[in-house]
Amino acid sequence: MMKVRDMKTAIQVLLLEDNHDDADLLIAELVSSGFDVEWKRVETEAAFLARLSPDWDIILADYTLPQFNASKALKHLQDKGYDIPFIVVTGTISEEIAVTIMREGAADYLLKDRLPRLGEAVRHALSERQIRFEKQLAERELRVMDWAIHSSINAVAMADLEGQINFVNQAFLDLWGYDSYGQIHGGSLFMLWEKEDEAHHIQKTLHKRQNLQSEMLAKKRNNTSMALQFSVSTVLDEHRQPICIMAMFIDITEAKKVAAAQREAEILRIQLEKEKELRDLKSRFMSMVVHDFRNPLAVMQLQLDALIHYADRLDQSTKEDRLNLALNQIQHLNNLMNDVLAIGQLESNDARFHPKAHDLIPFCKQAVDVFRESIGTNHIIQYETASTALSLPFDRQLLRRAVTNLLSNAVKYSPDGSTVHVTLKNTPDYVTIAVTDKGIGIPDDDQKRLFDAFHRAGNVGAVAGTGLGLAIVKQVVELHGGTISFSSEVGKGSTFTIKIPVSS
Ligand code: ADP
Repeated sequence: MMKVRDMKTAIQVLLLEDNHDDADLLIAELVSSGFDVEWKRVETEAAFLARLSPDWDIILADYTLPQFNASKALKHLQDKGYDIPFIVVTGTISEEIAVTIMREGAADYLLKDRLPRLGEAVRHALSERQIRFEKQLAERELRVMDWAIHSSINAVAMADLEGQINFVNQAFLDLWGYDSYGQIHGGSLFMLWEKEDEAHHIQKTLHKRQNLQSEMLAKKRNNTSMALQFSVSTVLDEHRQPICIMAMFIDITEAKKVAAAQREAEILRIQLEKEKELRDLKSRFMSMVVHDFRNPLAVMQLQLDALIHYADRLDQSTKEDRLNLALNQIQHLNNLMNDVLAIGQLESNDARFHPKAHDLIPFCKQAVDVFRESIGTNHIIQYETASTALSLPFDRQLLRRAVTNLLSNAVKYSPDGSTVHVTLKNTPDYVTIAVTDKGIGIPDDDQKRLFDAFHRAGNVGAVAGTGLGLAIVKQVVELHGGTISFSSEVGKGSTFTIKIPVSS
């Protein structure tokens, strides 16, 4: 409609005028006042009505026409409800008529012999209309906001800067159980908090002009407790001056109950899982006891029976062999007992963990050397490290046990005569000890549970074991703040790596 084109104001004008010359004069005046005019002239009521649409920017009307007049035209315009400035332009007009027509709603009037005023009158009328339009828009926005707050499902309360409530919406009344606004009007916003110190904290926060969002406990009017999520903020005006406080509340009582129930269910599930793990552990322990304690006992009994019953028929060397067999079984049982004891202590946290600062490099070399001397097979144990000295706190006894367990597994599960590599590396942050063998490897299915106590892989065959060694290693490494990992391929070999932080 109204466009700025080449610095001219483009307007569309509906002219109610029976005189062609007058019409031309009016338009010429508008053009000379800086308007780019599109216009239409009508002179009868029917033509006026036919042309009347909200698209006109301005209507210029002669006061008297042969069968029509400005008053009637203005009435038609108002009936349609269009906000188009209506200016009366006439040859003669009495003051009385002028007052009447202005009262009826005309934007202005002017006499034809004062036409130079026309441009200014149109401009003024257009700017008045723009102001009216903006005001209507602002009023509408305010009303929308008012409706929005009233129909919000969140409870909203407004209070003065002292906290005295001066507005609440319906959701607020419903939440707190009030029947009408009168029951809460003038009360203190801060009384809504059940805990006084919380209310205090909120007051202080608001004084510092900070906003707050949190959870609170509150009581309905009928004393029912509820859990709420709230936000309070200071409302600032256009000069950033505080004018009032606004608070919003959302009922989270049900959500809290559901969350608590879920938490309880989760705790119960974990407890049940732990109990199941314990039952599994016990049953694995029982079957281990049956196999690994009964077998050596049976072997011992066989040897000792033979020694007692056939002593006179056995030569000295056979007797010694049988005694040695029995002694080996005692040794095996002893190892087993030690492992069971160690895992029991480590798992129940009463392990005597005594870390002290030592040099790890000679310690590892010595542990490997001692192990090499004791294996009694033809395995080649190679130890490599580029490190010369590395002081860190560790428990010598426990770490020796861990390294020895890894070494004895590497030997147990790899062919006699093959090579086992032990490699020690360190960075400024941690040290790794890796034991690599070229043995039977670990099937994929067993890898997940390898560190579980008593778990043994399906491919161990006749190799003796308790399934406790790796569980012990893991516990020891974790006591040192470290981790254990492995990589393995069936038939090719395995590498077990322990990684301990240097600052542990
Ligand atoms: P075990 O006394 O049976 O050797 P561990 O706890 O030391 O008990 O090891 C658990 C299982 O892990 C072993 O039974 C074996 O199946 C597998 N395992 C451990 N180390 C190796 C290895 N170096 N090579 C192949 N399998 C291994």
